[in-house]
Amino acid sequence: MVASEFVHVPDLNLVVQEIAGEMRARADRGNVATYIPELARVDPHQFGLAVIDGDGQVACGGDADVPFSIQSVSKVFTLTLALGKFGDRLWRRVGREPSGSAFNSIVQLEHEHGIPRNPFINPGAIAVTDLILSGHQPREALGEILRFMRFLADDPSVTIDEKVAASEQRTGFRNAALANYMKSYDVLDNPVDLTLGVYFHQCAIAMSCRQLAMAGRFLAHLGRNPATGHSVVTAERARRINAIMLTCGHYDGSGEFAYRVGLPGKSGVGGGILAIAPGKASIAVWSPGLDATGNSHLGRIALEMLTKRLGWSIFA
Ligand code: GLN
Repeated sequence: MVASEFVHVPDLNLVVQEIAGEMRARADRGNVATYIPELARVDPHQFGLAVIDGDGQVACGGDADVPFSIQSVSKVFTLTLALGKFGDRLWRRVGREPSGSAFNSIVQLEHEHGIPRNPFINPGAIAVTDLILSGHQPREALGEILRFMRFLADDPSVTIDEKVAASEQRTGFRNAALANYMKSYDVLDNPVDLTLGVYFHQCAIAMSCRQLAMAGRFLAHLGRNPATGHSVVTAERARRINAIMLTCGHYDGSGEFAYRVGLPGKSGVGGGILAIAPGKASIAVWSPGLDATGNSHLGRIALEMLTKRLGWSIFA
């Protein structure tokens, strides 16, 4: 008889249901993003959680099937796509150090001569999208990003919320400033308005927690889709994307997220977070209210509870 037979393994479904119940009841929900007017209209009382393990077992709680705006969570997937096309040449135009600054900081970009600190702050993600756009029409680049999301989620119904894209296009002055600044240093190849158009649309992809957790599976399983065994990226690349998620995925809240949750994660101002428990599960959580760093308030708290109860922190 081995010792592990005595270890109590909590039931995944039960844990997910419990956390969803607790989160629904909480009064502290953070504040929805208002700088993108369409996101300001989202009901902050929603909460969803989906966990998919390596055997394909899916545990869902709350509003796990309600689509939301994935916003900056899309940056994980455009980074994956761009690395597949350009390999390590990508790192000539974007760094991979945590920024310690807000996701839309302008000051840092000036200090660093137009080279963004990492691919997850806005200028970094805009520079990555610009690479994907090169040699294509915006609609082709966007089609490629959307097809990739549908392929990873194994769901052809994933789509773009045009209202959200148009809303950000109308009000995205700060992103325009960041993009123009990079363009002045030749960090972008394409006309600024075209690159921004693709970027705003990729951020406006709408997915549910279940779809997003499906899309993240390859990062939890050495670059492979565990259902089919097909390789999406190499194990080394998956490991490195996870490393960047851990260090940069929550902007100036990345340290706090690593401290409390202990998993690679990527947040978006729509209130979604994709978190990866390497070798174990892909997790998506959604609660639209944000904290002061622009990360989902209850999303982070729910993930902290989940990793604590399941013992899933990568720091053991
Ligand atoms: N589309 C948003 C922006 O560019 C994404 C930011 C985010 O999700 N943190 O401002």
